[in-house]
Amino acid sequence: MSEKLAIHGGQKSIDKSFNWPVFDEQEINAVRDIVAGGKWGNPDCGDEVARFEAEFAAYCGSKYAITCVNGSVSLRLALIACGVKPGDEVIVPPYTFITTASSVIECNCVPVFVDIDPATYNISSAAIEAAITPRTKVIIPVHFGGLACDMDAIMAIAKKYGLKVIEDAAHAHGAEYKGKKLGSIGHVGSFSFQSSKNLTSGEGGIVVTDDDELYAMMHSLRNVGRIEGGQWYEHYNPGCNYRITQMQAVLLSAQLKRLEAQTRLRNENGLYLNSLLAKIDGVEPLDRSVDITLHCYHIYIFKYDAAKFGGVSKDNFAAMLAAEGVPSFKGYPQPLYKQPLFQNKNFMCYAIPGSADYSAVHCPEAERACSTDAVWILQHALLGDKNDMEAFAAAIAKIQRIVVKNSVNA
Ligand SMILES: *Cc1c(COP(=O)(O)O)cnc(C)c1O
Repeated sequence: MSEKLAIHGGQKSIDKSFNWPVFDEQEINAVRDIVAGGKWGNPDCGDEVARFEAEFAAYCGSKYAITCVNGSVSLRLALIACGVKPGDEVIVPPYTFITTASSVIECNCVPVFVDIDPATYNISSAAIEAAITPRTKVIIPVHFGGLACDMDAIMAIAKKYGLKVIEDAAHAHGAEYKGKKLGSIGHVGSFSFQSSKNLTSGEGGIVVTDDDELYAMMHSLRNVGRIEGGQWYEHYNPGCNYRITQMQAVLLSAQLKRLEAQTRLRNENGLYLNSLLAKIDGVEPLDRSVDITLHCYHIYIFKYDAAKFGGVSKDNFAAMLAAEGVPSFKGYPQPLYKQPLFQNKNFMCYAIPGSADYSAVHCPEAERACSTDAVWILQHALLGDKNDMEAFAAAIAKIQRIVVKNSVNA
């Protein structure tokens, strides 16, 4: 009998559930103790929240960390603290989650999209300078999938033009560039603790910084504009209540104890999977030659060449791969500037200049990644063992064998 794809009723290449989040009695007991203690929140974000912030700052090698409700608000806190004013421009990549750019809109500023480098899918540092104008204030590099951006080049450009750098490290907990934790290199690092992320409490976010003034402002914005040493009903800055609960903080503390080992395991498995995919013509992992000392593989991304797979589209291939039991996905269907938010300029009351026009934006590399090239394997799959990586590669090879045979027979 001939081999059959799982999507057509054949046997799966791998039949294993990869669970996320990973937890045990430690997480359950920690949350139970808080619930039982009856102190679920703390108006000053004290106790467990402050303890976790100190732990996370130390883990990143940063002076300060401030938790907040999610990794979108964290970007907003960072932008406002960096002093952006209405109409200022902020450089962002187009291949990322919406809030990297929509947080800029929420600050009444203009996202300026700079294309990605096809080797890494991170913002092309070589293309940033051409996008800088007198209104540019901030660059937001996103360490996409946990792969470090070219930070030396980006920090040098920022210094030359007097810009602030906010690292969107929502994918990058624990990952490193030149031995430094991502998020600790720019003026501010922003992280998400949403349920899919490599460190999670269901929802949540955090910013890290070494800068005393940025810290004071972000701390105030998180706490309805109060300042340290001020009165309870004294509000100085246009903040909001963005505080997290004690339950989230103890959950994060327990999860943080697992993070380094999980990160190293994903890095090892990612390197092994790279070596296996190198043997398959038509798939190519992203380039790691930027000085990455540790990749956390929030997303393991490889490039797909339909010509080597009998002309099967990327979207169909990704569906076949998922059916084979590999936790995988076709990724973003289009770059951010194509979203109706930007195309229709549905900016509500926000003060974006009329001259901002996203219908003219064209980032060919991001478009190519979205439409034909990028396939994602999700982070929890990289917490498996070597046999699992071999099964993922075998699934890709199986699909190739079958679809090439079918295309020849057709
Ligand atoms: C998840 C994510 C965010 C937003 O984080 P939330 O906690 O979901 O608000 C921001 N940027 C990137 C790149 C993300 O993946």
